[in-house]
Amino acid sequence: MDFDLTKEQKMIQKEMQHFCKKELNKDYVRWMDENVDFPPDELWQKFVDIGMFQSNIPKEYGGESMSMVDGMVAFEEICKASMSVALAIGTTVGFGTRFINELGTKAQKETYLPLLSEGKLKMCMALTEPSGGTDILGSVKTEAIEKNDRFVVNGEKVFITAAHVSDYMITMCRTEKDKKPSQSLSVLMIPSKSKGITITKVPKISCHHCDSVGITFSNVEVPKENLLGTRGNGWYESLVVLNPERIGCAMMGVGLMAAAYEDAFLYAKQRHAFSGPISRFQILQHYMADMYINLENSRNLTYKSAWLCDQGKPYHMEATMAKLVASEGALHAGRFGAEILGGYGICSEYPMQRYLRDAYQLQFSPISNEMSKNMMMQYQGLPKSWA
Ligand SMILES: Cc1cc2nc3c(=O)[nH]c(=O)nc-3n(C[C@H](O)[C@H](O)[C@H](O)COP(=O)(O)OP(=O)(O)OC[C@H]3O[C@@H](n4cnc5c(N)ncnc54)[C@H](O)[C@@H]3O)c2cc1C
Repeated sequence: MDFDLTKEQKMIQKEMQHFCKKELNKDYVRWMDENVDFPPDELWQKFVDIGMFQSNIPKEYGGESMSMVDGMVAFEEICKASMSVALAIGTTVGFGTRFINELGTKAQKETYLPLLSEGKLKMCMALTEPSGGTDILGSVKTEAIEKNDRFVVNGEKVFITAAHVSDYMITMCRTEKDKKPSQSLSVLMIPSKSKGITITKVPKISCHHCDSVGITFSNVEVPKENLLGTRGNGWYESLVVLNPERIGCAMMGVGLMAAAYEDAFLYAKQRHAFSGPISRFQILQHYMADMYINLENSRNLTYKSAWLCDQGKPYHMEATMAKLVASEGALHAGRFGAEILGGYGICSEYPMQRYLRDAYQLQFSPISNEMSKNMMMQYQGLPKSWA
């Protein structure tokens, strides 16, 4: 057993730390959080220049074929600097690229993967509908009806991260009328400029520089060749994207926790009360000890999930646990980090309030922590408790 990073992984880590220090410093991240709903094009281009969008694309299509562990080493640093930026990149890399790479035909891969590797396309995944995100199979009502050489799409999605800037919306639609829910869904790549698409802003407290929006599809015509994977089998086939998503979201919690711990630790050493630094107070040390324990546990589980994924071994239990402990740990770190900063914990001048707000989003997205526990016990062989 070896818990150490390889020489190459240490290099990736060092390069990303350097990149994030320079391009995602706290003042710039605060500016983004207060002024934009998606990272600016200049920043996107800087990620293109360091090869971020090539990471999980096979070499034959212009990518780097990075392992999940290597990818997560790089991603951890971005998550620590800004969860919004991590999400913005994650939607294209984790949803767009992964869907096409896993489900796409040769022609689809040849068309889209080189463009994705050059950062020329942005993508999002549109699964959730207003009637519920946990019970996806029961909730997807967005319908795609076949008509000659196209599908005509009608329906509504909500909370779709980065849809307002995406070139393509990878959308779960109901295509089969008379089959049971798990055999009735298909994945369509819908060009965002198609006629009949309306985007609605969803104001929220978290991740201000990566909006999640509502989408309405009204008689949107989509060429049949934009079907990804097998018609009617979209639910099962999309699991190759939804399972790794949990690892990425767990890493967001790890990054948030690391940032909150580091800021709280430094602040406690510098801030004085009753003639000495507040870091000498046992209760504050306990807050930080808990943050440190949560961070170590979550990071280990997240990397273990990524490693299992790379080995081709089952990892759904580990990834589900990782997302759960990392999101709870991040919320705890934001909450107690804010306590340590006293009044400054809720001031815009300090990023602690951002960590706390952003951590909330991870409690239920991409899967709620309640549902995570339901699934874990089902994976362990107990009767299905949740439907
Ligand atoms: C900021 C943000 C970004 C998002 N980004 C995307 C995106 O890019 N693409 C996308 O498709 N979706 C996205 N989502 C949607 C997200 O995945 C859903 O919010 C999530 O799945 C929960 O669905 P819901 O909000 O409809 O809650 P519900 O499904 O209505 O659940 C409400 C509550 O009921 C509980 N509950 C439901 N069923 C059970 C059960 N059987 N047992 C126990 N408890 C249960 C839940 O745990 C939760 O506490 C995003 C959401 C947010 C808020």
